[in-house]
Amino acid sequence: MSSKCPPLDEGDAEEAAVSKMSTGLLTIDLAAIAGNYEMLCAAASGAEVAAVVKADAYGCGAHLIAPMLYKKGCRTFFVATLSEAIDLRKVLPDARIFILDGLFPGCSPTYSRYRLMPVIGSLPMLHEWSRFCQSNSTFSACALHVDTGMNRLGLGTEELLHLFANKKQSLQGVDVKLLISHLACADDPGHEQNDRQLELFARLVQQAGDIPASLANSAGVFLGRQYHFDLVRPGIALYGGRAIKNKANPARPVISLSSPIIQVRTVKKGTGIGYGSSFVTRRQTRLATLPVGYADGYFRSLGTGNTTRESSAGQGAGVFIGEYEAPVAGRISMDLVTIDVTDIPADLARVGQKAELLGSHISIDDLADRAGTIGYEILTSLGHRFQRRYKEAG
Ligand SMILES: *Cc1c(COP(=O)(O)O)cnc(C)c1O
Repeated sequence: MSSKCPPLDEGDAEEAAVSKMSTGLLTIDLAAIAGNYEMLCAAASGAEVAAVVKADAYGCGAHLIAPMLYKKGCRTFFVATLSEAIDLRKVLPDARIFILDGLFPGCSPTYSRYRLMPVIGSLPMLHEWSRFCQSNSTFSACALHVDTGMNRLGLGTEELLHLFANKKQSLQGVDVKLLISHLACADDPGHEQNDRQLELFARLVQQAGDIPASLANSAGVFLGRQYHFDLVRPGIALYGGRAIKNKANPARPVISLSSPIIQVRTVKKGTGIGYGSSFVTRRQTRLATLPVGYADGYFRSLGTGNTTRESSAGQGAGVFIGEYEAPVAGRISMDLVTIDVTDIPADLARVGQKAELLGSHISIDDLADRAGTIGYEILTSLGHRFQRRYKEAG
């Protein structure tokens, strides 16, 4: 292999160049996302399956994922903010786009211009939208969000019932396309709050006339048919994450991340490694360094103190080199991580060799468990220094 940097756009040369030049290669499998969308459609018992693509499709790239899902038949998309929605409109000229954070004050004309639907969760928001719509009749679509137990966003149930009882005045000029609520505990199917929220929401839906209804996120899809209503709003399951705790994950993995070893060294027993020398070797140790750190979303909580190789979960992450696991040794730095490659064949533990940080051996949920967080946070923290490669949906 030549030591010169090949240009970045030369097909197979690209991957080699990328692994040499960047902190790592992040591969996003669009075919897997498409497969997960199909899986959710099959699980949703005929309800419309929308896609939640907030936070840049959970860090995976909304500008490519949303059009791919549209091609697969998805017609309704949810984002969090107005600027996310405007970006999405540029790649989805015809889709329905809902903004979960609602109506940002003073921005009604922008919603109208781009045909973006606020998910209205308070009376002041509703009044602002209604006033705007009455003076501008071209676009008046929105959703209403009612709080059924999350206590985060949404109209109170009394407020909603009052609106329905006085539809003529309170919803004047406004075209309500959807009534939504959000489950607080859907990842735990045995949690009693699921039934309570379902019961309350079903009662409110009965008062809503013919307004379509939506309650389920990814986890809600798997709680059963009665949770589906007219439309379901999965996010994490599209991106391969675990929706339900302590259960086999039916979603296909989407993300893999590899990073090349940039240095290998051997140190004596009793040597301190990294910041704070928190890890002290218990034997002669071969170490390898990868150019990935907490600035790339490889969380600092994945580092180790002085632990044995048999250490349990929560005691630091590992990476895979071929079929061999190499544990993290010491703290995670901003840009670097050191791994213990003593037990890995020397021909694999060499500079330029790729280590798997996420992939067939380590899922986003495995890594999240090690870091003390959830797959959602791993995904949305994936760094911007990685080279990104998208595997086409075909
Ligand atoms: C983020 C979000 C979703 C998607 O949740 P997942 O758990 O990722 O499926 C659905 N509805 C609302 C209101 C949300 O904020």
